[in-house]
Amino acid sequence: MSEAILLDGCSAPASAASAEVSARDARPVLRERGQREVFCGLTGIIWLHRKMQDAFFLVVGSRTCAHLLQSAAGVMIFAEPRFATAIMEERDLAGMVDAQDELDRVVNRLLERRPDIKTLFLVGSCPSEVIKLDLAKAAQRLGAVHMPRVRILNYSGSGIETTFTQGEDACLAALVPVMPALPAGAPKELLIVGSLPDIVEDQFLRLFAQMGIDKVGCLPARNARDLPAVGPNTRYLLAQPFLGETAMALEGRGAQRLDALFPFGAEGTTSWLRAAASEFGVDDALFESVIGPGRERARLALAKLRTQLEGKRISFLPDSQLEIPLARFLQDELGMEMVEIGTPYLHRAHLARELERFGPQVRLSEGQHVERQLDRVREDRPDITVCGLGLANPLEMEGLTTKWAIELVFSPIHGFEQAADLAELFARPLRRRDMLEV
Ligand code: SF4
Repeated sequence: MSEAILLDGCSAPASAASAEVSARDARPVLRERGQREVFCGLTGIIWLHRKMQDAFFLVVGSRTCAHLLQSAAGVMIFAEPRFATAIMEERDLAGMVDAQDELDRVVNRLLERRPDIKTLFLVGSCPSEVIKLDLAKAAQRLGAVHMPRVRILNYSGSGIETTFTQGEDACLAALVPVMPALPAGAPKELLIVGSLPDIVEDQFLRLFAQMGIDKVGCLPARNARDLPAVGPNTRYLLAQPFLGETAMALEGRGAQRLDALFPFGAEGTTSWLRAAASEFGVDDALFESVIGPGRERARLALAKLRTQLEGKRISFLPDSQLEIPLARFLQDELGMEMVEIGTPYLHRAHLARELERFGPQVRLSEGQHVERQLDRVREDRPDITVCGLGLANPLEMEGLTTKWAIELVFSPIHGFEQAADLAELFARPLRRRDMLEV
């Protein structure tokens, strides 16, 4: 196992496999527990540090954690880095030194050298969790010293029983308690929740402004110290399907979720925008005039790709938690045939509308047991399998076409203007396969 890539050795329980079909749920879901092959939550730092321009992420971890970050994010040569790993040595792990004192020393030195840091995240890892290093206590203690210049928060990016997008969820949930309060009598405000590339976020903000919804905040904000307010008059739209903990924290502060499809493809984006438009009383004619051109562009662009994807069979192995909304997009807007949709965690409330779209023939699975899932892929032989990096090469060797799930997280795929790019991510490997077969 390459430590920085495959985490089955350092993050997943190697317990005996068990799979069962739950009778409690409305539709059967195959539940699996066992060996997993996913990145850990530290991966989120790669996109979060680009999004929050004044934040610094200090991982309290091991050399493995440092390798993961460096190999996944690359080394910044021309800019001051905005993430680093405080490496726990053997004497920390053996309890021979006080890890809290060591951490104070590292943080104080970092903040002295880097006056540009306004928010510091102490990010927990498997090693810091194993020795039960209390990073919440550390954040509180160090915050008392460095506030107001620097706000210090903590969250866990550990790979123990988690998947990589949960790092963003944990980070955003850590921001919720420090969001300013929106007074009870204040007019309703909209909050977009989930990290989006700036270009996509700007497109959405423009559409909302054209509809007359101009009080729109984003979590995370581009400047982590410039957080939007939250309160009972906040209505929030989830831009990502993996933010269960953040949603719960927002609801704890009175915010209400607007139920919609996730904004992938022409239909998903329309549903997502419509949920806000209805809540904020936007007139139907105005809504149509604002979104009509973008939706039409997306439909036309997708029609060209539909010829390449229609009827193709696809399986998703559990990885990013984007699987269900992406599957709905590929099925409904491109005519692809779902064989299996595997997801690490299934948030039934947030995904209820998405789940309604699948017929009983579509196999849904939750959790991970990599061996069994691979066996099913070998038996099903779909045209394309969406999976983690570590599984793609072995499957390709067996003549199966794959798509790296992590690429979907790093690419701008939300909204009307990106709908065709999203479809293209699935069409390209199939074209390559066809060319190789000729
Ligand atoms: S946090 Fe855990 S799973 Fe992630 S790189 Fe560090 S040791 Fe491995």
